[in-house]
Amino acid sequence: MTFAIIDKQDELSRLIAEKIRSAISRTGEEETKGVPDTVFVVGGDGTLLYAVHQYINELDRVRFYGIHTGTLGFLTDYKDSELDALLGDYINGNVKEQDYPLLEITAGEHIMYGLNEVRVENMVRTQVIDVIINGTLFETFRGTGLSVCTQLGSTAYNRSLGGAVVEDGLDVLQMCEVAGIHHIKFRSLGAPIILGGNAQIELRSKDYEGAMMGADSDLIALHEEKSLRIRKSERKVRMLKGREIPYFYRLRSLF
Ligand code: NAP
Repeated sequence: MTFAIIDKQDELSRLIAEKIRSAISRTGEEETKGVPDTVFVVGGDGTLLYAVHQYINELDRVRFYGIHTGTLGFLTDYKDSELDALLGDYINGNVKEQDYPLLEITAGEHIMYGLNEVRVENMVRTQVIDVIINGTLFETFRGTGLSVCTQLGSTAYNRSLGGAVVEDGLDVLQMCEVAGIHHIKFRSLGAPIILGGNAQIELRSKDYEGAMMGADSDLIALHEEKSLRIRKSERKVRMLKGREIPYFYRLRSLF
């Protein structure tokens, strides 16, 4: 078995990473710069997102196991004061694998994956987008952009956009407007919409010049593309869980 460690690069996270390194090495697992079986992530939800994107093409081979150097997280089940429990659960095999879905956004030859959300935003000018859901033209949106999140991402950017927090275990996608324009001439739904997990969304525009397509913290500039397609990906993120933390306990501790 092999492992790797990704930490947030602050003093506490580095110290904890060092302790994990020596404890796991003593079990006979080898640290690797290649594709490991387990990635220990020390930091927060943001560090976990970063780690997932480092191994985005190897997700079927890699599992992630996170510890938060701060509070709790939505993806991290242990606080830094609980390092012994994290190590004990791992070494004693007291961990279960849980899969998290990824969203896929495609524009021409570009493809990006989001664990929290995928989005298109234009900070330069009003972006006009025809929103097609499961093959039906639903509305024409005008404004800064649109974001589509997973259940997990409902507490991230989605929440700042006025989207609903979604309990874990629900297989849904949620689309939110980013600064939609609503007046006598233009109107779109103007509210978050929750869709089934298998929804297919197409965002069509005559002109995406100046817009950025994003997935979690990754961004690319759009130019000639006219159609963006969003759906749940076949790729999944495999997380290791040593304990069950009730969703509403997590939510209460964080907000
Ligand atoms: P980041 O520094 O990695 O994360 C920004 C903050 O979002 C951090 O405090 C992070 O928590 C928190 N976060 C990440 N995923 C979360 C989740 N699923 N539920 C609740 N909180 C979560 O920032 P980044 O690299 O630019 O972007 C990563 C993610 O941050 C994006 O996917 C986006 O959803 C979110 N974000 C939100 C806003 C906003 O709400 N206005 C703006 C930018 C980015 P930790 O402290 O535990 O790392």
